[in-house]
Amino acid sequence: MTEEMIRKQIEKASAYIDENREAMMALWEKLVSCESGNPDKEDVDRICEILKDELDRSGVKTATVQMEGGGNLLKGEFHGERGETPVLLIGHMDTVFPHGTLAKNPFRIDAEGNAHGPGVLDMKAGLVIAIFVLRALDACGYGKRPVRIVIAGDEENGHRKSTAREEIFKICEGCEAAFNFETGFPDDGLVVGRKGSCQAVMKIKGVAAHAGNDPQRGRNAILEAAYKIIEIQKLHDFENGLYVNVGVINGGTVPNAVPGECELKIDIRYDSMKKFEDVMERIREIAEKQTVPDTTATVTHMRPSEVMEVSEANLKLFEHVQRAADMIGYGKLKTKTVGGWSDSCLAAAAGIPVVCAMGVKGANNHSPEEYAIVETLFSRAKLALASIITL
Ligand SMILES: [Zn+2]
Repeated sequence: MTEEMIRKQIEKASAYIDENREAMMALWEKLVSCESGNPDKEDVDRICEILKDELDRSGVKTATVQMEGGGNLLKGEFHGERGETPVLLIGHMDTVFPHGTLAKNPFRIDAEGNAHGPGVLDMKAGLVIAIFVLRALDACGYGKRPVRIVIAGDEENGHRKSTAREEIFKICEGCEAAFNFETGFPDDGLVVGRKGSCQAVMKIKGVAAHAGNDPQRGRNAILEAAYKIIEIQKLHDFENGLYVNVGVINGGTVPNAVPGECELKIDIRYDSMKKFEDVMERIREIAEKQTVPDTTATVTHMRPSEVMEVSEANLKLFEHVQRAADMIGYGKLKTKTVGGWSDSCLAAAAGIPVVCAMGVKGANNHSPEEYAIVETLFSRAKLALASIITL
């Protein structure tokens, strides 16, 4: 296709968005008004049905993947028969708000043009954008690549109880690039890196003894823990993107006993797997080194979550989005890295370039003050369209 033809296609797709503003708003209201708190599987599965219906009516071949430990996952493919490598749209339908939140915080638009309601920003608007992007692609005659879509039902707990991770990895296979319509930032920062996280537990064993009758025999596990906490906290390296936080301490039984046991729970955030492995090595060294004689310590950790490293591939995809933005007069974007996890980490771990936070712009997500800037529902849809059409 010539550049002129591409330009025409983008114009047509943008016009589709302009013509469907009301329909987009109506779907947004419908999705926010259907509560889908992460632990409420029934609610999530209900919104999954609504989304499936919307996608089916957009010419997308969809399938619901049943999940037992979380909300179902919805996947789809649009123009699956095309020859070139597919592009992937990512989203999630669960929110952090439990059933009943809606009554106190219904969907509404305020005088400043901001929308409110549970999940209005994270990320029901993003789902509206993804669905209308697919419809606009259809309307403008786009046919270069198949477009895949995956909408998880249990993203907010990192798919900890389901097999959604494995499913998403499969969907990522062979894709050219992925765009995630997660919460957009007011400063137009697009996320090219997200930290991974892991929780570790250190168990310290001392010798319990009567604090009055037999203190010399005791080996104070809490005291040993105190030395260790200071060493562990020294590993925290904010500038270098490595966060270490001893967040929970449990030890001892009664004041008149030398405590024989103490347990520390540690949260670790890292921007590369290498940093995670290195810091765990250091934590194990701290476990082995004792200050209070005769104490011992062991360390275990849960499965470390995937990290979206700031890769060349992500930066290249970001530059592509910036060029698309320039084409439609969207303005300047910037790269951003954040601490929070998203499914983009899975796409990155699967080895495909990904740009996250392509959704509607807003602030305060995961809180009752969450809001989204209505006008950006349309501008971000156009940005995504231009980015896909020119890919
Ligand atoms: Zn989210």
